[in-house]
Amino acid sequence: MPRPIQALIHADALAHNLARARQAAPDARVWAVVKANAYGHGIERAFGGLRGADGFALLDLAEAERLRALDWRGPILLLEGCFEPRDLELCSRLDLWHVVHCPEQIDWLAAHKTLRPHRVFLKMNSGMNRLGFRPDAFRGAWARLDALPQVDEISLMTHFSDADGPRGIAHQVAVFEAATRDLPGERSLANSAATLRHAAEAGVAADWVRAGIMSYGSAPDFPAHDAGHWCLQPAMSLRARVLATQTLAPGDTVGYGSSFTAEATMRIGIVACGYADGYPRHCPTGTPVLVDGMRSATVGRVSMDMLAVDLTARPDAGPGSEVTLWGRASAGAVLPIDEVAQAAGTIAYELMCALAPRVPVALADG
Ligand SMILES: *Cc1c(COP(=O)(O)O)cnc(C)c1O
Repeated sequence: MPRPIQALIHADALAHNLARARQAAPDARVWAVVKANAYGHGIERAFGGLRGADGFALLDLAEAERLRALDWRGPILLLEGCFEPRDLELCSRLDLWHVVHCPEQIDWLAAHKTLRPHRVFLKMNSGMNRLGFRPDAFRGAWARLDALPQVDEISLMTHFSDADGPRGIAHQVAVFEAATRDLPGERSLANSAATLRHAAEAGVAADWVRAGIMSYGSAPDFPAHDAGHWCLQPAMSLRARVLATQTLAPGDTVGYGSSFTAEATMRIGIVACGYADGYPRHCPTGTPVLVDGMRSATVGRVSMDMLAVDLTARPDAGPGSEVTLWGRASAGAVLPIDEVAQAAGTIAYELMCALAPRVPVALADG
């Protein structure tokens, strides 16, 4: 028997979450953002649930090839564009749309020989200060692209730094609007947080929204709002089983470093999940889990292959009992991945992407 741990991918949840993006931005088209192997879910496994998207956005050319191999004929956008000139050949061959964020990428296009002109998304740095042309250089870049026979359509794009937080997006929207007012072309501004929180504000939801984390069922602005508030469903469930139990007397400690000491008699279960599976080692005692669908909590330090959970209130639980580390229990209850990420001092994005290769992943049946 394989080690009793498994991640399940819920196609129904992916489809539901995508529908939420459409509902939040009804006039926009929706990119399903599937970079980082669909945020750890696996592009091939996520594809079934997300194929209703208008396009897929990612940044790895090999991942774009995998999407085409699935027979996806619709739009694919490379969010960071090309990394070197010969990437343009793959863009021509696979009909990939690509971001242009720096002058070198325009030089490469100008030198590229293609029969089929490209659709590009010209990216503005409106305040994130990561990728993109500054507002005062944007028009010049646009004019250069517009003059190239290699370029067919130019869309305009920017990315928000604070769509999930109190600073918001108004300052960046103002910068973007001012610099693009009289430029033609479709727009793409909103990530998940902007789609859920700001889509009603003028211009924000035009014309393509980029739904990443919300597609996978995490609330982009947790803990201000949780997945339930946004009606999102978890697309990944990490489940393992109890291998053994221990009964602790007052004063007994648990695990490496003896970080937990029992104050009273208690019963714990040792679970087949550790940090080598992608469960964060930083989760302290008290991090929530579901045991047979009911809430309990971790006890002591997370080891490489195991962790301990409190079974004191669960005399029925023992070896073989199901422990859901995040997502949906088979009994139906949900433990939001955002709660686990918060306990670990990180965000759900990181947990999803860090699911370890040794964990078997399967599509849930319904
Ligand atoms: C990753 C990414 C997104 C998706 O962000 P979420 O917060 O996951 O919705 C959108 N746009 C760009 C440019 C990205 O890199």
